[in-house]
Amino acid sequence: MFKAGSHKTFQCQACRHQTSLIAGTLFQSTKLPLTVWFLAIYLISQAKTGLSSLALKRYLGVSYPTAWLIHHKLMEAMSERETNYTLSGQIQVDDAYFGGELSGGKAGQGLRKQGAFCCGADA
Ligand SMILES: [Zn+2]
Repeated sequence: MFKAGSHKTFQCQACRHQTSLIAGTLFQSTKLPLTVWFLAIYLISQAKTGLSSLALKRYLGVSYPTAWLIHHKLMEAMSERETNYTLSGQIQVDDAYFGGELSGGKAGQGLRKQGAFCCGADA
């Protein structure tokens, strides 16, 4: 076992194959500490109105391109998993808006400029 970059790499003594604990996960080949990723997952999953890459950049203290990449990788992973499910039986539906709040406008007008989406869940 040895350290290559910021994450531990393991090598098989028989065939010298190298792998790491994050190989095959969406964290594969990341140079960031996993704690940054976990914080990002927490922030994104707790943000009721969605979280922009810019907000993520501020919370995590990383560059904008890094925040953008983290954001997109996590959203992609979540959408990939969601496609495994098909709703059935009694379904409850709710609506919401995304796109962040617009400054300078009245609340009602601001909302109309945001994207609307619907989500449903098995009851
Ligand atoms: Zn081996």
